[in-house]
Amino acid sequence: METPKPPTRPIHTAVLLAIGSELTVGETRDTNSGDLARSLSEAGVDVAWISALPDRLGTVTAALGDALAAADLVVTTGGLGPTPDDLTREAIADLCGEVPAVDPELERWLRHLFERRGLAFATTNLKQAWLIASTTAIPNERGTAPGWWIDRPDGRVIAALPGPPSEMRPMWQGWVLPRLRERGLGRERVTRTYRLAGIGESSVAALLGEQLLRAENPIVATYARADAVDVRISAVAAADHSAAMLADEAAAAVLAKIGDHVWGHDDDTWPAVLGRALEARGWDAALVEVSTGGATARLLGEAGWLRSARVVAAGSPGADVALAVVAERARTDSGASIGLAVRAIETAEDTRVELAAVGPWGVSETSQTAFLGGSEGRRRAALAAAAFLHDILREAARG
Ligand code: AMP
Ligand code: MG
Repeated sequence: METPKPPTRPIHTAVLLAIGSELTVGETRDTNSGDLARSLSEAGVDVAWISALPDRLGTVTAALGDALAAADLVVTTGGLGPTPDDLTREAIADLCGEVPAVDPELERWLRHLFERRGLAFATTNLKQAWLIASTTAIPNERGTAPGWWIDRPDGRVIAALPGPPSEMRPMWQGWVLPRLRERGLGRERVTRTYRLAGIGESSVAALLGEQLLRAENPIVATYARADAVDVRISAVAAADHSAAMLADEAAAAVLAKIGDHVWGHDDDTWPAVLGRALEARGWDAALVEVSTGGATARLLGEAGWLRSARVVAAGSPGADVALAVVAERARTDSGASIGLAVRAIETAEDTRVELAAVGPWGVSETSQTAFLGGSEGRRRAALAAAAFLHDILREAARG
């Protein structure tokens, strides 16, 4: 008899379940779900939710049921070990109404693994050779727990992967993902990210307004990151509009409101963006920072365009010289096109940031207050320095 082919159901939505009491007591961080969510999102799959669950059969079975009712794909990680507290197989079998049985081929493979290492084979390990009728075993080349791939009669898929990231990742990349792609994985999704400086997330949200921020497609969202406030637009194709068209429309609306604050796109970083702007003019730079603990050099990293970076402690000789003079000295000493100087001064609660730059256009100076003192204030002083240089380069480009 021919086995009936499962109905093909494209995979547009997913739920991720991280299983293990080590997660719910806070001993282990759930990195698996984040990795999987990123991979699925990149493929255009909408991850409906992510849960971490204890090793409790009823909880896991109920969560699997909810997940399967809501999504085309459920991926679990963890709970595939040999010990009685590893219950993922039992939960899936319960949900499918099937009874696990030892698969002779998996048993041979498992026993061989133990022989290879000269270890006694405890019968508790046999659990790792279990299958149910609707499972295909997912090979695990780095451990003793094979995964489970389950085709549900309605075309939904459950993929159960072991908890250790070093086993989970290659099984996902090498086995599960390619098979999901065959089913039709995700919808075409276009995302555009704008990276902002000189404005806080709440002001960005206020400028964008509720209508944009609550729309379902495209989704417009703001994120406060360490180096920027990001505005991310994410669109999927709708009836008569391509994803790109929808994203472009939203982008035009976003840029009309906050365009002046944009310094980068997508994966841009400060060193890369400043590097591009400097390169366009054939310029490079020298940096001096006073009382910043080297925060600016850390932000700008090992940028090739930074000829020199000097950190001066408060109170050391030259620390109180006018900042434009400091910038000019850095420039002449290093032979760079631009000298950039930044000084952080802790006030009662915040940090006063003084900035100066000297270059082919002349001298630019400004100062501002960065939120908070200490290392947080110094970190923000570095961001202010990057934004200052960016503004200067933008002005220079405008001629
Ligand atoms: P298990 O498959 O439940 O036997 O998990 C074995 C080990 O994998 C755990 O002890 C953790 O060290 C690791 N692990 C399990 N789940 C996760 C997770 N969601 N994220 C990161 N590591 C995990
Ligand atoms: Mg476990």
